Formats: sequence, structure tokens, C-alpha cells
Amino acid sequence: MNVYFHTFGCKANQYDTALVRQAFADQGAVVVDDASVADLAVVNSCTVTHESEAKLGRLVRRLARLGGGGGGGGGGGGGRLETVVMGCAAALDDGRIAGLPSVRAVVGGAEPSQVLRAAGFPLSAPRSSPPGSLSTRSLHPLSPSPSGRGGTTGRFRGLLKIQDGCDEHCTFCATTLARGANRSRGIPELVEEARALAQHHAEIVLTGIHIGTYGQDRSGWTDPGATPRGSHQGSGPDSPGARPRGWSTLGELLEALIAAVPQVRFRLSSIEATEVDDTIARLLIEAPAHLAAHLHAPLQSGSDRILKRMGRHWYTARSYRARLDWLAQRLPVFGLGADIIAGFPGESDADHRETLALVNAVPFTYLHVFPYSERPGAAAGRLGERVGPGVIRDRARELRESGEAKARAHRARRAGQRADGVVCGHGAGKVEVLTEDYVSVYLPTDQWNGRPRFEVTVR
Ligand code: SF4
Repeated sequence: MNVYFHTFGCKANQYDTALVRQAFADQGAVVVDDASVADLAVVNSCTVTHESEAKLGRLVRRLARLGGGGGGGGGGGGGRLETVVMGCAAALDDGRIAGLPSVRAVVGGAEPSQVLRAAGFPLSAPRSSPPGSLSTRSLHPLSPSPSGRGGTTGRFRGLLKIQDGCDEHCTFCATTLARGANRSRGIPELVEEARALAQHHAEIVLTGIHIGTYGQDRSGWTDPGATPRGSHQGSGPDSPGARPRGWSTLGELLEALIAAVPQVRFRLSSIEATEVDDTIARLLIEAPAHLAAHLHAPLQSGSDRILKRMGRHWYTARSYRARLDWLAQRLPVFGLGADIIAGFPGESDADHRETLALVNAVPFTYLHVFPYSERPGAAAGRLGERVGPGVIRDRARELRESGEAKARAHRARRAGQRADGVVCGHGAGKVEVLTEDYVSVYLPTDQWNGRPRFEVTVR
């Protein structure tokens, strides 16, 4: 049976797809890159914006127009190509996804056995493992899949999902409804997976839904009087230094991972600025070969009034900026990105100008700007004071222009400098190399020495 996979959304989704893809391969399915030869499609959905769900609908309709590859098994096989939709949007489906053409099943979440069952596979032990003993290898995307992308974001970059879910309730976010509460994986298990990933990957990206809260859900939380998350003690202004005794932290996990696989460069996928604790800050500053000098720190708004309406209570514009300025002063090279929502309900011109002012003040090197769109089930829909679509568009454009100007300035500053590069893709005679500060450098393939990681000149 030929199975085609497509993933929408974040790196956590890419990781989940890799697990499901591996589970299908373990059952004897052939993963194909070309949907026209597939017997079944599996689409991992995202609910973060209205646009991502619209794209899902378009893809599923397009897939339905393809004939199944006819390879047998539990999938379509002849006629229209059937799709199993999994993931976050699937978890919140009100019937709209199920009603799309040729949708065989809608599976909320990303549990591989449920997706397999929905695809019609009788659940047997994976072919590559003894019955009843799903090996780490079959459970985790440790090596390149037949299509060369299993568990990877590119040729030599691997993903390591350290936690799932989130305990916050940002009013614009339906992810927390779709994925549930914070659930962290144990350090020994993650170290073992990192060791296996390191056999094929020069860079490992730590992913999750809210990675700054890594470990807070695990037993041993013993200090109810401890400093709350995001309040600030430790080195530097607004530095969340102290931590309750008893839980492992993201900083501790990073230290364990670096000790286990020092040859790898780790990267954090997305972390709240005020959750960069002193250990993480020290590693960023002192161990650039082990932890890439890059943070993607969601800002969402530069107005404290709007941050409150968003339910983002753990930082203010001031504490966000203070933490990042403190780091930027200590990092000679620093890639810094943020997500920003334009036109959140109740956002006035003055709020928007505060966001723009903050964007201009913080040393961002790129921005991801999202025009606000209402997510089914998210509390922001009940807030009222909607901003008109034209205003949302204009504000998003202004923010994007600022982000693009910052990205151009960063690249110009870096041009001619040496960087620590990891190959993240190649094709059409070119190799894409990703630097520690998240800049892509393209080299003609014939100038590539074949190594996954090497010093490169930014151009
Ligand atoms: S922190 Fe907020 S935006 Fe991020 S996953 Fe949790 S609820 Fe969603």
C-alpha cells in the first residue's frame, strides 16, 4: 500500500507525522512523495490560523480528485484517493473536515495506532520488531525515511519532541484545546533518542507546544512557595533564574543532551522570552557550538493591554524586551524571531503603534506576522471589539515590512562573515546551509564538500 503524507503547521506536527509515517512503514506501507501513485493520503492538520484550515480543505479536495494508486491494503485503491485527516484541526472538527470529499476518517491528535486503525490496518506488531516490543526505533523517527525526510526538517536536521500540550489558555489559541495539558518526556528517554538521531543528524531541533514549561508537569514538584514562572530572579534584568526544587527544567535537559551528544548542534524551536532561564542563557552565550544562537520568542503584541486580553499574563512588553536585550548584548551573533498577531480584537491604533515601536527597538532578525483570524472554540471570539479586515490587513503589512527590513539588515551585517553551517536541504544544483543564527546560505552543489556541518561564509 502506497501512502502519501502531508503536514501543515509547526515542527511539533512534523515530528508527529514522522512517527505516524514510521508506524505505517513498520506495517509494510510504502511512503510515497507523489500523491498520484498513492492508495491513501494522511494529512496532519493545523488549527493555528483560518488560512491553515482553508489550505487543508483545498488539499483534501485536490487529493480526492486523484485516483487511488491501487496498491491494495486498507486504503482507497482505485477511484478517488481517500484521506485520513489527523492532528489539531481534526481534534476540533465540527463536521466540516469529515464532510470534505473522500475523507475516510478524522483522527484528533497524533496517536499512530489510531491513524493506522483509521486507515484500515489491522493492528499487528511492526514487521521490524518482535511482537509486543515496539522498539524505540519504530516509535521514533530516528533515521531518514524511505523518502529521505523521516523525523527531519531537512537532510541533516532532526526533530526531538520534548513535550506536548500547554497549560496556558491564550484567548486566540485553540492548540491547547486540541493538544491538552503539558506532558513532558523524561530526560533518559530523550537522551537515548538524541543519541540515535545524532547518528544521522548534525543538528537536532527541540520541539513541542510550550517547551519553556518542560518538566513542570513531572512528579517531584515540591515547592508550592517557589517563584512563579516568568517572575524574575537570577542574572540579568528580568531573568527567570530561580526555579522550584524537584522538577527538571529545559536547561537541565539541554545540559544532559549536550553531554550525551556533544558533536550535535541543538536548536530551540520556539520559546517564550521570559522562560529563557539562566542555564539556557549561559549555554547560548558560552556554548554556541552546542546550542545555536537563535531564539524564536513569540511576542504576539507589544501592548500590555492587548497581552492581557490575549491571556498572556507571564510577560509584559518591558520584561520581554529586557530579557532579549540582555541576551543580545552578550551574543555577538544572534538570530531572533517572533510571532506577532495583527488586529487582535480590541487592538487600537495606539496598541498597534506600541507593537511597531517594540519591533523597531528589539534586535529581531525576522518576524512571522499573522493577521488575526478567529479560531473555532478559542475564547477571543467572545471578546467583541473586532478589528475590521482592511485594518487587520494594513497592520499586518506594516509589521511584515518592518520584519523584512530587519531581516535584510541582519543579512547585510552578516555578509562576508564566517558561520557554523548545517546542510538542511539540496536540489536543483544547490545546497541550502543553515547558520547558527537561522540564515540560509545557498552553495552550488559542486562547492559542497559533502559534510553535514562546516564553516560557511554568509553571502
Ligand atoms: S502558550 Fe498560549 S499560544 Fe502557546 S500553545 Fe499555550 S495557549 Fe497556545
